[in-house]
Amino acid sequence: MGRCAAVVLAGGAGVRVGASRPKQYRMLAGRPVLRHAVDAFARHPRVGTIRVVIGSGHEEDYAAAVAGLALPAPVAGGACRQASARAGLESLAGDPPELVLIHDAARPFVPAAVIDRVVAALADEDAAAPALPVADALKRGGGALPRISGAVDRAGLWRVQTPQGFRFQAILAAHRAWDGADLDDDAAVAEKAGLAAALVAGDEDNFKISAPEDLARAERLAAGDARTGSGFDVHVFRDGGRVVLCGIEIPHDRGLAGHSDADAATHAVVDALLGAVAAGDIGTHFPPSDPRWRGTRSRVFAEFAARLVADKGGWIANVDVTIICDAPRIAPHREEMRRSLAAMLSLDPERVGVKATTTEGLGLPAGDGIAALAAATVRLPWQAA
Ligand code: MG
Repeated sequence: MGRCAAVVLAGGAGVRVGASRPKQYRMLAGRPVLRHAVDAFARHPRVGTIRVVIGSGHEEDYAAAVAGLALPAPVAGGACRQASARAGLESLAGDPPELVLIHDAARPFVPAAVIDRVVAALADEDAAAPALPVADALKRGGGALPRISGAVDRAGLWRVQTPQGFRFQAILAAHRAWDGADLDDDAAVAEKAGLAAALVAGDEDNFKISAPEDLARAERLAAGDARTGSGFDVHVFRDGGRVVLCGIEIPHDRGLAGHSDADAATHAVVDALLGAVAAGDIGTHFPPSDPRWRGTRSRVFAEFAARLVADKGGWIANVDVTIICDAPRIAPHREEMRRSLAAMLSLDPERVGVKATTTEGLGLPAGDGIAALAAATVRLPWQAA
């Protein structure tokens, strides 16, 4: 199947949860609700472009929420949900994907399996939506002190979630033909245009934050299962060559020996990340005996480790590395190294620590070279625990 884009709707004022800040920018375990939602798509292999639709005045909140991710510029939302969804679709129309997923930012926990099912259904369908059957008994009730005044047969009733998936041209045409009436979601816009969405299995974790108590539930889920890993690496000096640490070349009269680019700092961080998810070490995945990795920039290893965490539905809370050497001087390059490491891991630099210490001339533990120690904290969703 062809390209699949995602439109994430974050344009709502969202004050219903009872705070001054719109709910999509409320923090959950240290990250905005929107970031959790966007990451679910960013780490999914079938999703290419992710376009976020934002409300006016939210530009700064948006920039902070997606820091470290390479996303196209956000689109300004419209006066209502449909107008915002249409704005997002129109922004993709110049280079149209085959498929599009439209998602509410207020649903921060989209399991990869839900995206899989929606996309799979689009092989045969123009529209598909995740949904759950209604399990509780449904009653009618009314009055100041509501009393039950009858039952509603729940057979054939569904609670419909997002992301809702569509063949792009079909949903774009449906939105363009929409008459302005207020509708619940894009499946309703599609239905008006004669496209009946197929229902695929949703997920209870994929709930929408609307009431204040939803935030507490979301906080419990977002905190996840914290895992910590550590890493250590050493490379010795040799004549000639280069010193590369955290992807940055540091001027020095000697270089570091190694099979790859000998970036001890990045190697220690990669081992810390792999350790946090109990996935072996850098040598397991990139054996020095394999000529493929000769001279490889360590960025490749870092991106691999970050992907492995993302594939488990997790995210990196922070990494911290200490570089141990008597020379060269690290301090002048530290900020550049932080930014470089953050870029490799798609992290906000605020979550990346780079420190350096000498050995007071003892030469230990690095000897005649450079050593690095790293720690990483990763949060995994509870269901993966
Ligand atoms: Mg190494």
